[in-house]
Amino acid sequence: MIVETLTKSLKKKFEEDDRKGIHVSDLTLCPRKSIFDRLEDKPLSMRDLNFFTSGRAIHDSIQILAKENGDYEIEKEVEKDGIIGHIDLFDKKNNIPIECKSMRVKEAKEAKSHHIDQLESYMALTNSKKGILLYQLLLHYDDKPFVEFEHKVTDEQLEKRRQWLINRAKKYTEIIEKQLSPMEMVGVFNDPKLNWLCRSCSHRAQCEMVESEVNELSEK
Ligand code: SF4
Repeated sequence: MIVETLTKSLKKKFEEDDRKGIHVSDLTLCPRKSIFDRLEDKPLSMRDLNFFTSGRAIHDSIQILAKENGDYEIEKEVEKDGIIGHIDLFDKKNNIPIECKSMRVKEAKEAKSHHIDQLESYMALTNSKKGILLYQLLLHYDDKPFVEFEHKVTDEQLEKRRQWLINRAKKYTEIIEKQLSPMEMVGVFNDPKLNWLCRSCSHRAQCEMVESEVNELSEK
């Protein structure tokens, strides 16, 4: 099946890209899953392929179009405090990182919190107090299928985000270097906003077991 071939190619691609240094994407969403994925050699699923292809569709097309305009840097790589980020689009004149996302919804009244975590991390890496999230609403069939959210922060909030990244990166490095259990890293299992991720995660059984033991102990 072509899908199996593509899924194997995706795994190979991840291994080839693999991941020198710590990336913003390792520290946002579920850092525990990122550590599991680094340490364990599990095959990818069709869901992984689905995430990859649907996520890439908007990035690739918007980046192709933005290339026509010299004001934007495409897929800008930044590094600060040993943390690496790849920003979809970067407004060079105004020092604004722009992240492009798609959502399977008709309307969006606000940006998703994990997208803000990611954008704000790029803002911390580029020392920018303003960032933009551009969403494509895949189920909007009328005349406004794109929506933009500006995100602004103070100097204090920017510094707080920088420290948040540094602390997570420090813990992440310690776990990898000392070969500790990925369960020592923060995960999203008990986060109602993000634990939809666990439904398709191949490490779910381990998290379920450990988290239920922790809950039982705290109830005693
Ligand atoms: S099951 Fe959930 S908390 Fe555990 S690693 Fe996967 S996404 Fe993270």
